[in-house]
Amino acid sequence: EDLKDQYAAENPRSRELMAEAESWMPGGNTRSVLHFDPFPLVIEKGEGAKLYDVNGHVMLDCVGEFSAGLYGHSEPAILKAVSEAMSSGIVLGGPNLYEARLAELVCKRFASMDLVRFCNSGTEANVLAAVTAREVTGRSAIVVFDGAYHGGVMTFAGGQNPMNVPFDWIVLPYNDPAAAREVFIKNGRRIAAVFVEPVLGAAGNIAGTYEFLQTLREETEKSGSLLIFDEVKTSRLGGGGVQGILGITPDMTTLGKYLGGGFTLGAFGGRADIMTRFNPHEPGSLKHAGTFNNNVCSMAAGIAGLSSVFTKERAEAFLKQSESFRLRLGEALTNVHPDFHVTGLGSLISIHFASVEPKSGADTTKETRQFRDLLSLKGLLGGVAFTGRGDIFLSLPMTDSDMEIILKLIVSTATEYLDFR
Ligand code: PLP
Repeated sequence: EDLKDQYAAENPRSRELMAEAESWMPGGNTRSVLHFDPFPLVIEKGEGAKLYDVNGHVMLDCVGEFSAGLYGHSEPAILKAVSEAMSSGIVLGGPNLYEARLAELVCKRFASMDLVRFCNSGTEANVLAAVTAREVTGRSAIVVFDGAYHGGVMTFAGGQNPMNVPFDWIVLPYNDPAAAREVFIKNGRRIAAVFVEPVLGAAGNIAGTYEFLQTLREETEKSGSLLIFDEVKTSRLGGGGVQGILGITPDMTTLGKYLGGGFTLGAFGGRADIMTRFNPHEPGSLKHAGTFNNNVCSMAAGIAGLSSVFTKERAEAFLKQSESFRLRLGEALTNVHPDFHVTGLGSLISIHFASVEPKSGADTTKETRQFRDLLSLKGLLGGVAFTGRGDIFLSLPMTDSDMEIILKLIVSTATEYLDFR
């Protein structure tokens, strides 16, 4: 409570602006995830790996726009590509010079994607992939995992969410191959698709085991349903996403977040025989419209990002660098107390406090939540912005010394947590 008072006292301008915002938006909010008690910081500017708030604080940015901020702020190659593209018009109302090039870059990078379609967000990509799977298989049920977040209308923390699209969802525990096998024995013929995040993100960056993901591959293949990897977040891991790391190829993949270089973008794609159902040359093809699906800014930023900033080589190097940070942080926190666990993979990182390392979305403990609350507050007071739930997203412009500052702040907060608990 003292820290909250200190936070409120140090951020009067954010408090004022949020109070004004409440006149026009419920609770001043238009993105539930940005809600923070007593009020979130209003951000004025971003530059490289730093955020500047309206009270003049400068913070290292571990929010990383919930992983969409891979490139950091104001990446020169992206700014240049977008301003060049914009100088010839912003919405053109026809196929343009960019979309096929971005599609080529995406398909060449992700093994499962022979053909791709663009949309405006990760949420849209997932809804469209779900609809496609139901159409292609003629089946209704979709298997998802407890704790999964596939967008605001496909959220499965603690079971169902009233905002979900009303599909026939079957919610299973994550990282439980036996439960997955069993559901196929009982419901195999009803299942259109299995949707899985290869690292369960919002539930605390819990990596799927090879055995779990491979079981999903085998069971979907046997039953004729589709395996869909939601790589909206994890596509940043290595040169070809988690599918590339594990060598497990899903039938469809969904993407978003950093793919548009900071501009709004989603993509869904997969095997040619599935995606070809959208081919308008074919009679009875599926229709998928969307005014901004091929918008020039997202396409141009996406191309610049994949071709000149986050090349496959850079992606591999970043995975190594960030995974070594994650492991180092894990060791440092284990030395503070063996119940600390640093989960995730590479640049997608969460901290848990539990007697055993969490393996599924249901495993979050009260201590984990307390520690993360403390970490976000200590971070905001100490010059490092973490998400409200304490995730850590590393970005390309972070230097080794930035990472050292982040590590030290986390370790000192962990020590303080033990006294406070
Ligand atoms: N899928 C995953 C795994 C996500 O983490 C998110 C967003 O956090 C989404 C889908 C939804 O993407 P968007 O916010 O672009 O709709």
